[in-house]
Amino acid sequence: MNAHAVKEYTKEDWKKLASDAETSVEGRLFINGEYCEAADGGKFEVINPSTNEVFALASEGTEKDIDRAVAAAKESYYSRTWLKMAPRKRMDIMYKFADLIDQHAAELALMETLNMGKPIGDCLSTDVPASATNIRFMAESIDKINGKVTNTHDKALHLSLREPLGVVGCISPWNYPLLMAVWKIAPALAAGNSVVLKPAEQSPHSCLKMAELFVEAGGPPGVFNVVNGYGEVAGKALALHPDVSKISFTGSTEVGKLILQYAGQSNMKKVGLECGGKTPQIFFADLPDMKRAVEAAYEGIYCNMGEMCNAGSRIFVEQSIYSDFVDQFIADGKDAYMPGDPLDPETNMGPLVTSEAQSRVLGYIESGKSQGAKLHFGGGVPSGMEAGCFVEPTLFSDVSNDMKIAKEEIFGPVASVIPFDNTEHVTQMANDTIYGLCASVWTSDVNRAHSMAKSIEAGIVYINCFDEGDMTLEFGGYKQSGNTKDSCFESVLSYTQSKSVWYSLR
Ligand code: NAD
Repeated sequence: MNAHAVKEYTKEDWKKLASDAETSVEGRLFINGEYCEAADGGKFEVINPSTNEVFALASEGTEKDIDRAVAAAKESYYSRTWLKMAPRKRMDIMYKFADLIDQHAAELALMETLNMGKPIGDCLSTDVPASATNIRFMAESIDKINGKVTNTHDKALHLSLREPLGVVGCISPWNYPLLMAVWKIAPALAAGNSVVLKPAEQSPHSCLKMAELFVEAGGPPGVFNVVNGYGEVAGKALALHPDVSKISFTGSTEVGKLILQYAGQSNMKKVGLECGGKTPQIFFADLPDMKRAVEAAYEGIYCNMGEMCNAGSRIFVEQSIYSDFVDQFIADGKDAYMPGDPLDPETNMGPLVTSEAQSRVLGYIESGKSQGAKLHFGGGVPSGMEAGCFVEPTLFSDVSNDMKIAKEEIFGPVASVIPFDNTEHVTQMANDTIYGLCASVWTSDVNRAHSMAKSIEAGIVYINCFDEGDMTLEFGGYKQSGNTKDSCFESVLSYTQSKSVWYSLR
């Protein structure tokens, strides 16, 4: 059912669908165009973080299953089942694939909510349509991946060709299970590769369904395979596999560094990394609109339960507006996000992904308190919601940039407001981090906006807004936030390699 058809659904309707899904959801691996059990027959529990109860079992892929999936992908690549199709034909299949994602919006959205706790309304309004949009954009790019004829001397002809890489391994996180996987598989497929995807163990279901829909759309078997399993087993086997030409990873910086090692230990495969962040949002006293700025500040950290790589977790505010800003944040932001049942279409904040994540975030809150930050609201588990992995939206002010809550990626709804004196002071603090994914600068001074944009070490700098953009925005980080760009034409090219063909015309 598409998103429009379920617009009027109530919490009770979704609960009924959720209970049906428990028995019908497909959790087996998807290899060579069909579902199959893991070679060793293993299964793992996928826990619903709203209740901490088992939602479903999923097959636990191991090295043997990665071998099978890579072999299927390799066979499909070298028999050119996908590549030999005319670009227009591949585009048609990708468009149909996107249409099928739209048509199955309700089912896919429900899987996201039951796997990782995202509010059903967010899944329907953002994750699923954004996935379909991304696939359509990548489809459009298929007949625009051009090589070139270079301007060399007249006794030679030089063709620089753009070719796919072969078998691409993708490893995705749980925070946007479908969308983050699409950011990898769609450009990789558009560029003509075959793919093996290892989704996060917390959230395998929407990725499995997606592979099924690709085949339903006409994608040849073996071109898109999904192997569920644990990172240290299935993910590691994929990243070490000698027949994988590129590994595309989104997840923590810690695991990103392991992926680089695996590439070096095996076949020097190419590595694309999208990792963690500690985004500074910088508010100068001359910001154009305090209310809008404060709204961007709390939305930037509480949206998706704060489980965003680009979460605006460090809120730098110039001294002269500091106390007004904090007051307005409390007035507008305290009740803006209310933890609730993510199956209720009215809910805008679900649980964190697991009880471990909940304990980790509560630990950060304790460290904020013990290091002397001022707690204004939140800080605990919402009352009556102890069965799930909920954490209240939390606001700390008087944070200093060297406190643990300002240094480390919390990946939860914890906002830290940090005062600053002047441009030099805030630039130094904003850049004093291992991360460099995003930043924002709020000011009415265009000169300052421009010089700040140049001096901030981040892959994306927003001016007087936050987390906006479209498919022309190249998403990716500087420093230890990663080394690649997703969700743009540049990303399609990152799944290709160039070959020079030099004709002597003497
Ligand atoms: P994670 O690093 O724990 O896991 C990510 C994926 O890697 C999962 O599929 C996991 O199974 C796999 N994995 C874990 N250990 C592995 C290993 N040894 N070998 C191979 N694969 C392994 O991250 P997570 O908790 O799923 O996601 C949260 C992190 O992702 C945060 O740091 C967040 O900032 C980052 N993230 C970044 C972006 C971005 O675009 N930069 C987007 C979303 C999330």
